[in-house]
Amino acid sequence: MICHLCHEKCELGLCPECMQSLSRVPKPICLYCGAPVAGEQTDAFHCDACTDRPRSFSLARSAIRSSEESMLLIHALKYRKAAYIAPALATLMAEVWHATPELRELKNAAIVPVPITHRHLSKRGYNQAEELAKPLSASLHLPCLQPLIRHNTESDSQTRLSAAQRLHNAMAAYAAAPAYTSGKKQLPPDIVLIDDVYTTGATARACAKALKSIPGVKNVAVLTAIRVVLS
Ligand SMILES: [Zn+2]
Ligand SMILES: [Zn+2]
Repeated sequence: MICHLCHEKCELGLCPECMQSLSRVPKPICLYCGAPVAGEQTDAFHCDACTDRPRSFSLARSAIRSSEESMLLIHALKYRKAAYIAPALATLMAEVWHATPELRELKNAAIVPVPITHRHLSKRGYNQAEELAKPLSASLHLPCLQPLIRHNTESDSQTRLSAAQRLHNAMAAYAAAPAYTSGKKQLPPDIVLIDDVYTTGATARACAKALKSIPGVKNVAVLTAIRVVLS
């Protein structure tokens, strides 16, 4: 295999040097949403955005911050059929898992990828969140399940919408699968939701809300490959 960034031979789709060179999310972070914050904040700090909004997930963390390189990777993963880079990103996500006590203690959790629409699935050939979730599930020895469904909603691209519009759209887009809400299939109390990018958190909030409509689900944590940091 060839490293997607430097084109050297490697095993994971990215070579160890390039994986090392990707910028991690800088500290300190908001302990709830994982956003990097300026200043000296430490314990129990929540950013302004989190103080105002109702919570649906317990915390969100990401492996790397948005940068030219990381956005190139996500673009390739989403639009250029480069699913082969997902295991390298999952390795970086596992590092965050092991470095975060609140995640590490979720020993009986289920890993749940954010679903995509059927249209995207047939166009892309895979769900990028699932491509991240599968190697992560294997390395953490946690089951990977798909209890969520993604409805086809009007607007596909969220990029140009305000945070409030994104949340409104996301809430309508995700739901729990009937097999889980009816109790035919079960989930453990702790869920780790997996996605490629965390932008405003609208998708994470909507999925966490849908997951909590499933009997027995108590806690949803969120882990993404990339955190969009506006600077
Ligand atoms: Zn490389
Ligand atoms: Zn926050």
